[in-house]
Amino acid sequence: MRKTFKLSMMICLSALAIACAPKEPAKYLALAFDDGPNLTTESALLDVLEKYDVPATFFLIGSNINDDSAENMKRAVSLGCELGNHSFTHPMMSRMDEAQVKEEVEATSQMIEKITGQRPKFFRPPYINVKPDMYDWIDLTFICGKGCEDWVATVGREARFEGIIANAEPGAIYLLHDFEGNEATVEALDDAIPVLKEQGYTFVTLSQLFEKQKCTPDGHTMYTVVPDGRKK
Ligand SMILES: [Zn+2]
Repeated sequence: MRKTFKLSMMICLSALAIACAPKEPAKYLALAFDDGPNLTTESALLDVLEKYDVPATFFLIGSNINDDSAENMKRAVSLGCELGNHSFTHPMMSRMDEAQVKEEVEATSQMIEKITGQRPKFFRPPYINVKPDMYDWIDLTFICGKGCEDWVATVGREARFEGIIANAEPGAIYLLHDFEGNEATVEALDDAIPVLKEQGYTFVTLSQLFEKQKCTPDGHTMYTVVPDGRKK
């Protein structure tokens, strides 16, 4: 009888200790990759995301979408990933007129929607090359993000890993690439994801990141870190 009392007191006290422990605020990150879809590097990347059970957002180039690469788009969606728009031909869009810009974006969004049923909500301009008019012409939220020069072949796996870790902060969006041959980014992530999880970060899609941060995107901002809407 006494033993049972002691035991239940201990359970109560440890429950109290857990309840009173200072609670760390949740920290969210969004991985976002440009220049797919493809059936090489992107497949390896999806394997890594699946291994750690983390979603990401893929900014796709319309002209890379075909019956074969569409399989990875479907796989990404089935893993909880989000698909964004990265133009149709990857041009310098600040040099284009309204009709050309709209055609680049609309053709890509239509293909993505036709294949996956998911209409993109986010746009990453190729080369982050923009002019003010584009915010009026494109009805999507503009995304930049934090990179680690992972489009430069001489920047190796270790440097990419260090860049990814150094760029982590609550609300951050990553600007990474899964174009064909860019395996070093996949390998760097294989190392970085468990480290960032250990640091208390949760990986989410871009839509989820804006939701979690309680931030309503405005139409004239290009986001790299989504601000916490609760801190006004
Ligand atoms: Zn690109």
